[in-house]
Amino acid sequence: MKARAFSYLRPASVAEALAAFAAADGDASYIAGGQSLVPALALRLQAPERLIDIAHIPELRGIALADGVLRLGALTRHVEAHDNPLIAAHAPLLALAAPFVAHPAIRNRGTLGGSVALADPASEFPAMMLALEAEMEIAGPDGTRRVPAAAFFQDLYQTAIEPGELLVAFHIPVAGPHHRCAFDELARRRGDYALVGCGVMLGFDDAIVAEARIAFLSVGPVPQRAAAAEAALTGRALDAEAIRAAQAALADDLDPQDDEQVPAAMRLHLARVLLGRLLGRIAGDAA
Ligand SMILES: Cc1cc2nc3c(=O)[nH]c(=O)nc-3n(C[C@H](O)[C@H](O)[C@H](O)COP(=O)(O)OP(=O)(O)OC[C@H]3O[C@@H](n4cnc5c(N)ncnc54)[C@H](O)[C@@H]3O)c2cc1C
Repeated sequence: MKARAFSYLRPASVAEALAAFAAADGDASYIAGGQSLVPALALRLQAPERLIDIAHIPELRGIALADGVLRLGALTRHVEAHDNPLIAAHAPLLALAAPFVAHPAIRNRGTLGGSVALADPASEFPAMMLALEAEMEIAGPDGTRRVPAAAFFQDLYQTAIEPGELLVAFHIPVAGPHHRCAFDELARRRGDYALVGCGVMLGFDDAIVAEARIAFLSVGPVPQRAAAAEAALTGRALDAEAIRAAQAALADDLDPQDDEQVPAAMRLHLARVLLGRLLGRIAGDAA
């Protein structure tokens, strides 16, 4: 199958891109890295009349640190999430998750903005934005607004981005020297979408867990924080008992459904195994 014939525009600014979308009467798509959109066009899962290529807009680029916040332009590529020293130092969950996203050719073109705007529940970066408590900067006809990650992912492939709006950048409060992070996932083959994935970020006060953030992917229609497991860890040492308590608490956090890949009970079991491994890894590093 081939894509429908489409017109192609390459705006030079966010304002031009928004105007181009508005002029298309809703029959348009933005394209960034094209790693999800182009296959969807080829299969005619999407068939817009107009493609608006945002990959050359300078306002959507850049990786910068200011006042304790890391700003990542929406066009930051997956490969940069892995290689950029500012990201590795200040938002390590993105760097740790990047090698698990697809394959090198896709990581060279795919953008953080495209991944997060698409909001595939099996994607690594949306869940890590949730764990990092990022704010999404969104531009629309009425100006720019910021949406916290906790309010951004609304349902399966549905986000706070309204039709025609553009995701401009991520604003991420930086991790400090007292934070320890770990990411891993379980997939049938390396590069496949994960059966379950998890990122953990713990803030320590000496040996005590002062802050816990745990986010899962592939456990439901949206990426999910594990509030009960976080509470089970907070205010105590990260020992075997605390890890078991966090694993047990996942029953209150996650409610996976049966699907063609694995039954719900198996997915919850895998999530517990994964969380135990990650917490054990952090405990080992901290010791
Ligand atoms: C074989 C294969 C395996 C893959 N495996 C994984 C995987 O394991 N994990 C994973 O997370 N992903 C995986 N992906 C998806 C890949 O990471 C995509 O690159 C990413 O999801 C989309 O980024 P993109 O820049 O290519 O977006 P595009 O494909 O250009 O766009 C995707 C969607 O987002 C919209 N969009 C893009 N940028 C913006 C913006 N700034 N503002 C508003 N809307 C925007 C587009 O209109 C489109 O609807 C895989 C893809 C392939 C083809």
